[in-house]
Amino acid sequence: MQKTTAHLVHDLPQHAPMTQFPVHHGELVVGGERLATLAARVGQTPFYAYDRALLRQRVADLRQALPQEIKLHYAMKANPMPALVGLMAGWVDGIDVASAGELKVALDAGANPHAISFAGPGKRDAELRQAVASRVLVNVESFREVGILAKASQALGLPARVAVRINPDFELKRSGMKMGGGPKPFGVDAEQVPALLSEIGQAGLNFEGFHIYPGSQNLNPDALCEALQQSFDLALRLAPHAPSLMRILNLGGGFGVPYFPGDKRLDITPVADVLNSIVQRALVEWPQLVLVLELGRYLVAEAGVYVARVIDCKHSRHQFYVVTDGGMHHHLAASGNFGQVVRKNYPVAIGNKMDAACTHVTTVVGPSCTPLDVIADRMKLAEAQVGDLVVVFQSGAYGASASPQGFLGHPACLEVLV
Ligand SMILES: *Cc1c(COP(=O)(O)O)cnc(C)c1O
Repeated sequence: MQKTTAHLVHDLPQHAPMTQFPVHHGELVVGGERLATLAARVGQTPFYAYDRALLRQRVADLRQALPQEIKLHYAMKANPMPALVGLMAGWVDGIDVASAGELKVALDAGANPHAISFAGPGKRDAELRQAVASRVLVNVESFREVGILAKASQALGLPARVAVRINPDFELKRSGMKMGGGPKPFGVDAEQVPALLSEIGQAGLNFEGFHIYPGSQNLNPDALCEALQQSFDLALRLAPHAPSLMRILNLGGGFGVPYFPGDKRLDITPVADVLNSIVQRALVEWPQLVLVLELGRYLVAEAGVYVARVIDCKHSRHQFYVVTDGGMHHHLAASGNFGQVVRKNYPVAIGNKMDAACTHVTTVVGPSCTPLDVIADRMKLAEAQVGDLVVVFQSGAYGASASPQGFLGHPACLEVLV
């Protein structure tokens, strides 16, 4: 009987190991700095810290793994902190923006306008005009946008640079978030693309290529490979309808990171193999074609932590609660309220007790007066006390900018690059 229980406990899904940050005398080290010192440097909790060396390493590793012909873009909605975008702009081949606000940050960061692309299902007239004036590539997502872009081009004396965002006729299987296939507000259905291309030609816009983004947060290499192959085939099928040669093909991305128990790090090797075969085909059939991947969380999520301080500990009917000064208002995703269907725990640790045994079943909550404000639900952690630092790993993407900071009037968090 005992043996069976032990076996079951052993088989419980675990978080992928968070070995990207070293531990020194029981304390987590982020950006070469011990956590307590880092908190003192920041001057307050809660805060997000992003590790420059890890960001750089991720880009370098990915470049090493992928064919060199593939251009790497950073989708900055994952983390729009201006200093971080500035760093990334120096390391990747382009920045993908999803609003005029993001466009400003990318331009301020020194990103080359020629390698900025602008996607989004609801681009306002003024935003489209800003994109034309900035000379960035607009991923056209509706028939309406063609007319607005033509007017802006005429008024500014600048030809609008456009790609067509295709809503594909397939899905990215086993994806955390599906953004293509079936009815979608993103892009234009593949069957309507020939008509859109003809309007783009008549309007005299500068057609440069296609953009296909089937989904996000995928950890399954087979599903990613299939979608990449299908995206490439779809673009080749539609290219003959274009008013000019296809020169850019943005194949999306959707590479995921392990957040939850049981998630395994994505094996990039099969994905690289498929990309390699796509590159080889393109070299023969479309020698002028530039192939692009646009990645958000895969580039930045694992380099970031969220750090909050324990302000109270209490027991309620056999459950141990640790209350921190941070929570869902800064880190909506870790609370389970940013797109998750079933709430699961992010990897969490007591950052100043990394060597202590994780024996205490602990529920970590934030300060907000709502049952939604949960950072860790009955997780085994080191025994926490008031003053300790709770760390949420995998927090470099969809953190501060994706959270309702005004909710309940608690102080905002800070973000630092270390
Ligand atoms: C959100 C988004 C991305 C980035 O997604 P990640 O899952 O962070 O990689 C890239 N491209 C488009 C079009 C997006 O909407």
